[in-house]
Amino acid sequence: MIELTLNNGVTMPAIGLGVFQSAPAETAAAVAEALRVGYRHIDTAAAYRNEREVGEGIRRSGLDRADIFLETKVWVSDYGYDQTLHAFDKAVGKLGVQTLDLLILHQPAPTRFDTTIAAYKALETLLTDGRLRAIGVSNFMPHHLDALLRETDVVPAVNQVELHPYFTQPDVQQADAAHGVLTQAWSPIGGITFYPGWGDERRSVMEDAAIGEIARAHGKTPPQVMLRWGIQQGRSVIPKSTNPARIAENLDLFDFELSAEELTRIDSLDTGVRGGPDPDQPRDAFFDVVIPEA
Ligand code: NAP
Repeated sequence: MIELTLNNGVTMPAIGLGVFQSAPAETAAAVAEALRVGYRHIDTAAAYRNEREVGEGIRRSGLDRADIFLETKVWVSDYGYDQTLHAFDKAVGKLGVQTLDLLILHQPAPTRFDTTIAAYKALETLLTDGRLRAIGVSNFMPHHLDALLRETDVVPAVNQVELHPYFTQPDVQQADAAHGVLTQAWSPIGGITFYPGWGDERRSVMEDAAIGEIARAHGKTPPQVMLRWGIQQGRSVIPKSTNPARIAENLDLFDFELSAEELTRIDSLDTGVRGGPDPDQPRDAFFDVVIPEA
């Protein structure tokens, strides 16, 4: 398992299991199965409403808590200093743990950026108090990062952003690298390019001809090629699956290597068009979501 070293010296397994849209009834089994086959990093979020089941999956695995890198996210309706301190309590209460390895802000709240800053300051306090091992952000564009860095002390360890061959965000990757922030890819195998109901005319990166050709050349699958591309370029990747065979497939990445030419060919597939929400276009409804108590 490849470990990445964050900017505060904490190490994090490069591959994690994502659980967005994992039905609560399937989440504990998926987490336990992932831990059984060798994953040691789980990415969830308050807004996914399955933190409780993630905790159950961890307990089912029988592994020591210390051997698992546990990451979750604070939703925007819980931004604000006191609110975010309480969001931490809700998260650890549901997960059934005392501390988190990484807590990140789910997205900037551009129209209420003061609450984003206050939320991040709460993460800084929790870090100082030893309740968190690292803190970070998600869906931050370079100008959000600049604005955050101007008003806070701790450089985020991680920025989790949409990143797959059809949307590579080179500007975000460069800004992250310039500040020592690790880029973590969500939808690393392009989930957002093929999820039903997320737009009619999506081209699934899973079916891309170039990715397929590279996969065949290595005797691997398109998801394995996309994950290997991310890891070889130094990113963290958090593919989601609730299917045991695919959970295992997405970790089986260490018996092949992509050439520099193949990496460049995959880079060149970037369309510059995001599949997910634009972080600068927040929806008012986001703030109406109530994250339940633990
Ligand atoms: P993804 O991991 O790129 O793709 C997941 C989809 O691919 C699911 O439909 C899954 O179905 C399928 N799949 C998984 N492995 C496969 C394989 N080997 N072959 C074929 N299909 C496969 O997309 P994502 O879930 O959007 O992103 C991953 C994680 O990133 C999330 O779970 C979440 O933790 C995080 N995320 C964060 C944000 C954010 O705003 N910060 C946004 C989106 C996602 P099955 O389950 O049926 O296998």
